[in-house]
Amino acid sequence: MTQIAFHYPNHMGRILLQSMEEVMGPGHLKDVLALANCKQLAGNYPPANFDREFSFETISGLLSTLEQAYGSRGGRGLAQRVGRACFKYGLRDFGDSLGLAEPAFRLLPLRPKLRTAGRALADLFNRHTDQRVRLDEADGNLFWQIERCPLCWGRHAEEAVCRLAVGLLQESLYWLSSGKMFDVKEIQCAARGDPACVIEIHSAPLD
Ligand SMILES: [Zn+2]
Repeated sequence: MTQIAFHYPNHMGRILLQSMEEVMGPGHLKDVLALANCKQLAGNYPPANFDREFSFETISGLLSTLEQAYGSRGGRGLAQRVGRACFKYGLRDFGDSLGLAEPAFRLLPLRPKLRTAGRALADLFNRHTDQRVRLDEADGNLFWQIERCPLCWGRHAEEAVCRLAVGLLQESLYWLSSGKMFDVKEIQCAARGDPACVIEIHSAPLD
């Protein structure tokens, strides 16, 4: 039986590694890469192109290695911070193509702004990666649903583990709302046997 392999484009793999380096420092990242059998990536990040060559196994392997090295709590906390950094680098590299810099977008009221940006971000993943994202809305809350999630690819866990996505969304909400914090949590996770990974975003910012 042949296994179909799923990938992120090199550019997103590059952003993931840059973000890990920023959060952990190059020395600790090097240790984690060695532990994850990815030594060859140390100081040698993938090019910024859209070839789909950065495998889901590599992504989930790096994140599970964080938990191995720092404990599940510490590792997931780091993953969340890495997710926040990923948004920053992603905005730098993809912000224009997402239309987030356009005045018409900047002037939208908060709710439509979140919806528009959420759809643009989901589109970016659906177009350039093998992961599938759907944005749903219920009772005014947003649900970021990841099918075929690279963050927990092949993992089994008791708890939800895709904290990188939580951090990415938190930081995007912070940026979109000019500095507000939102309640963001993963309510379903494929690693726990759920059909998809689902992140719930409460639409009203926290005080
Ligand atoms: Zn997941």
